[in-house]
Amino acid sequence: MLDEKPCASILKINNYAKFRQYINRGIILGGVNEKGACITFDDGPSIYSFSMLNILRRHNVKATFFMLGEKIISNIDVVREVLNDGHDIAVHGMHHIPVTNLDDNIFMKSIDIFEGLCEEHNIQYKKAFRPPFGEIDEQKLKLLMQRGYKVILWSFDSLDWQRNSMQMITEISSLDDFNHTYLFHDGAITPGSRLETMKALEHLILTCENNDCDFVKSKW
Ligand SMILES: [Zn+2]
Repeated sequence: MLDEKPCASILKINNYAKFRQYINRGIILGGVNEKGACITFDDGPSIYSFSMLNILRRHNVKATFFMLGEKIISNIDVVREVLNDGHDIAVHGMHHIPVTNLDDNIFMKSIDIFEGLCEEHNIQYKKAFRPPFGEIDEQKLKLLMQRGYKVILWSFDSLDWQRNSMQMITEISSLDDFNHTYLFHDGAITPGSRLETMKALEHLILTCENNDCDFVKSKW
């Protein structure tokens, strides 16, 4: 399913005081409090994932890929390579739709389908859910927590669906702390150029290496 904006930059979840009680229990914001640069990709798998994997492999960096269930079967070779390279696979949903628009039962059914798909194809995945657009409601958060999931957000949004690499690189270079959870996209449905994503990714990794900032696969 095509959407205008794959992942909004605003963590709408922060707008709601009621979510504060879940932070670091059910919701991980991914800030600089914990050590390590954590690189995450949303909206894949796609043919572009291979390019990201090549960069990560060259620098021996492990990352987490939040995948869309509807893309898994047609890109099963990508999925295998992600796992073979030692990265983690986590859940971005079956389809790229705001889960706040879904009935609770339908949402949990979509999680069942994602899990079934992974079991059927012997795909190991982490019980970590990144909501499309960073939006979730309290009831769905509770349901996910009951199933052993954490909701994973991010602290640095590359905005690679609307920015070029120079804009991303300028912001990366201005950081005074690199221990973020970084959001990039490896999806084919995602607006923007994945070539720009690759350039920014390479720059981020080199900058972290030069600043002795280690990489972590996850902060959850
Ligand atoms: Zn997304």
